[in-house]
Amino acid sequence: MSCLFCKIIDGSIPSTAEYQDDRCYAFADIHPQAPVHLLIAPREHLVSLAEAGEEHPALLGHLLWVAANLARKKGLAKGYRVVINTGDDGGQTVDHLHVHLLGGRGMTWPPG
Ligand code: AMP
Ligand code: ZN
Repeated sequence: MSCLFCKIIDGSIPSTAEYQDDRCYAFADIHPQAPVHLLIAPREHLVSLAEAGEEHPALLGHLLWVAANLARKKGLAKGYRVVINTGDDGGQTVDHLHVHLLGGRGMTWPPG
């Protein structure tokens, strides 16, 4: 398996863990774009949100629930942003589905 995030999840590439359970692994982004920048990835290799099937709604909901819990744990009471870059136009660079949790500064809109 050549997937970067699969290697992070199985521990063969080091990362800073923030949370893990039987369905997902959350870790610090190596190039943080905000004071808090975490990635939440399913243990199952799923290329992107575009590949989600009818068996995946519970997993997708779980990833968002973990993001909200991590935001609470990180003290992001003023708010935060959750992003799922999808495909080339979406700016996705790692082809293993992941949720970005960004916080600790004011965000702007529209995104780049
Ligand atoms: P995306 O562009 O949405 O696919 O997001 C991929 C994210 O993975 C980027 O924010 C990268 O900074 C992050 N990233 C790449 N390699 C690593 C790594 N080894 N450990 C942690 N985060 C990484
Ligand atoms: Zn993977």
